[in-house]
Amino acid sequence: MSAAPDGRVAVVTGGASGIGLAVAERLARDGAQVAVLDLDAAARAASDKIEADGGAAMPVAVDVGDRASIDRAMGDVRSRFGPIAILVNSAGKEGFRRFLNITAGEWDRILAVNLTGTFHCCRAAVPDMVEAGWGRIMNISSSSAQGGQPFMTHYVASKAAVIGFTKALALELGPEGITVNTIPPGFIDTPMTRRNEQRGFLGPGVDHHASLTPVRRAARPEDIAAACAFLVRDEAGFITGQTIGVNGGRNT
Ligand code: NAP
Repeated sequence: MSAAPDGRVAVVTGGASGIGLAVAERLARDGAQVAVLDLDAAARAASDKIEADGGAAMPVAVDVGDRASIDRAMGDVRSRFGPIAILVNSAGKEGFRRFLNITAGEWDRILAVNLTGTFHCCRAAVPDMVEAGWGRIMNISSSSAQGGQPFMTHYVASKAAVIGFTKALALELGPEGITVNTIPPGFIDTPMTRRNEQRGFLGPGVDHHASLTPVRRAARPEDIAAACAFLVRDEAGFITGQTIGVNGGRNT
């Protein structure tokens, strides 16, 4: 009973880069048909690579903060692959700004992508899962929501809200055969992290933080993908509403 993907349809937002890309590639390797949702043409490049590696994938350009675009995207996925069974919400926007400099517009945009985008995607995909009596949702939050992070109040608030959202949705969808979990990564070596390192937002940098991590390395996107690959399996059906740290022991 460990099986899952088995041709099931997985939607991965932010699937063109970093964590989302690793999750999309892994789920495709494990036999899912994967829709790569991302802002632009990068979704096509990711999808092409998955197909070149022998997987089934399709690209969809969307802004997860735009409900109409998400509804269209999920419709396209259903037409091409069938009902959505697996959803990984990895699209995210970070922000580094002193609290007193955060504008209302910046606050709204971060919340729109990280929190409302997660809501839109779940809202659009869950009906398929209810119909099937089976579903898996993994929301990528952030370890910053567990410990706080200066100069990121908008981002941290959005990611903490994703953790609460996940717990509440898990309670509601448990009876429907749908699990909902959140993975709060910390210091994954991705384009987002390297971008922030270059801008000087990460203090002494990724390698320094890796040296302080109990397992003595930075996390790789594949570490998060491995957790998702487990959570989608049938045998993970009793794990729901959880905040599952994949962090090398940084937050215990
Ligand atoms: P990444 O490499 O920048 O990937 C994020 C992807 O999401 C990018 O392709 C990005 O497109 C896309 N995206 C951004 N806004 C979007 C929108 N409105 N609609 C659709 N797609 C959108 O970042 P990552 O490091 O893999 O992060 C993935 C998730 O993990 C994020 O939610 C992030 O907050 C969370 N996280 C990451 C870390 C870490 O250490 N890396 C730590 C904690 C949490 P563009 O590149 O065009 O913007």
